[in-house]
Amino acid sequence: MSERYLHFINGEHVAPSEDRFFTSTNPATLEELYEAARGTAEDVDRAVKAAHRAFTSRAWSSLSATARGHLLRRLGDLVGQNAEQLARFESLDNGKLLREMRGQLATLPEYLYYYAGLADKVQGSQIPSMNPAILNYTQREALGVVGAITPWNSPLTLTISKIAPALAAGNTVVIKPSEYTSRTVLLLAELADQAGFPAGVINVVTGFGAEAGAALVAHPLLAKISFTGSTATGSSIAAQAASRFIGCTLELGGKSPNIVFDDANVDNAAMGVVAGIYAAAGQTCIAGSRVFAHKSVYDELLEKVVNRAKSIIIGDPLAEATELGPLAFADQLAKVSSYVQIGAGEGATVLAGGSRPGGLDLPGYFFSPTVLTDVTNDMRVVREEIFGPVAAIMPFEHEDELLAAANDTEYGLAAGVWTQNLARAHRMARRLEAGTIWVNTYRAMSPMSPRQGFKSSGVGIEHGLESMNEYTRLKSVWINTDESPVADPFVMRA
Ligand code: NAD
Repeated sequence: MSERYLHFINGEHVAPSEDRFFTSTNPATLEELYEAARGTAEDVDRAVKAAHRAFTSRAWSSLSATARGHLLRRLGDLVGQNAEQLARFESLDNGKLLREMRGQLATLPEYLYYYAGLADKVQGSQIPSMNPAILNYTQREALGVVGAITPWNSPLTLTISKIAPALAAGNTVVIKPSEYTSRTVLLLAELADQAGFPAGVINVVTGFGAEAGAALVAHPLLAKISFTGSTATGSSIAAQAASRFIGCTLELGGKSPNIVFDDANVDNAAMGVVAGIYAAAGQTCIAGSRVFAHKSVYDELLEKVVNRAKSIIIGDPLAEATELGPLAFADQLAKVSSYVQIGAGEGATVLAGGSRPGGLDLPGYFFSPTVLTDVTNDMRVVREEIFGPVAAIMPFEHEDELLAAANDTEYGLAAGVWTQNLARAHRMARRLEAGTIWVNTYRAMSPMSPRQGFKSSGVGIEHGLESMNEYTRLKSVWINTDESPVADPFVMRA
């Protein structure tokens, strides 16, 4: 029997209430990796109640903000010490390159150190008062139990981006990781326990979205939901949060433009296009899936991108030389393949890829890096998030026409611009409707830099100083320092 993972609730490994488990499979080899507990509403209830008790417990509520920072710092150290194992487990689970996961894990402690440093910088302020006898000040306080629901493509990075600010601010958390990547999030909770976080502060319930995820969103003791995943799921979560007046932070899908101007360094731009759409097999929310190239450099760029796409080394994500691993699971492969069919049916030309690569000795969910041309903005392959290694490349002539096309999308997560013209770079940064703009680079990310999805790409902010506001509420306190008798109780006084 394969290895079994239980929920992590109140500092303990807890068996699922219905004693049911699901299997996690290696998407490169199709081997079974382990089983994880299939969470129910009862399991979620247990976890949220544990988190709720922990929120008010002396063990957590009497800790100073600085002490919470020390705990996060210790957790950062432990993540660093266990980075190799965590990177390997993530790669086995979701098929991303071990090289890439090692890179993510190498910077992950910095995320925890960043929020450790912010824990004791959360503060209110004194408000000027119209009445000198009144002292009016604000204080920022934690919300309570935060539910964190995360996807499979960067499990630990996306989980830590939510729980680190939540914990720094003094909340407790219940995490529901993706059913495809349960293991590293469970190990993170164990490391938090080792770091000294009190029992119940960090809980993990594994399982499926429609079961454990939905039960978490619906739980009446939840004070806030922080979600990263598809726009469809995010929309339903936002509606539920609104109906109960609880806050939600949503990081959703994207269909980002990657724009190459006539004055760009075309070699660098071609590498940026390749990185934008083929890194992580295109399974990133920020994938630069719509490539716009000025007509004077279009042919040159296309040739470079197609040549590189065709030479990408596809194979075992654990192997050092591999550049593209499998898609994460069978439905992903079916979805990506069907989009290429849809594109071809709409009149697109498949210049590279478009199918499973030949000559592979691995049975997994591999799909070749794909280039589509002869595409227009009304086609589904240009409008909808494919979440795979499929680039749609289009020429443009004038900047205004380009901007209209680049912004003609329901999404607004990110955009790339390749130009050597400084004025144009700033003009594009101002006029592109996306929360992150990269100029002459792509995919850069840091815990220090706020990330916000515009339009259907999200609600609220992750990372940066601003993210602390997502996990706190502001209270205004009025103190009357005047003890003389009240002259007229029917007149409001400032
Ligand atoms: P998904 O929406 O299917 O699932 C995300 C998480 O939500 C999983 O844990 C899943 O179990 C859970 N879930 C599913 N249905 C639910 C429900 N009804 N109630 C509560 N929870 C539910 O998304 P996915 O396929 O795992 O992830 C891919 C998507 O995530 C893409 O659209 C991608 O763009 C997006 N994403 C966005 C960002 C960002 O920062 N904006 C980052 C990574 C991924």
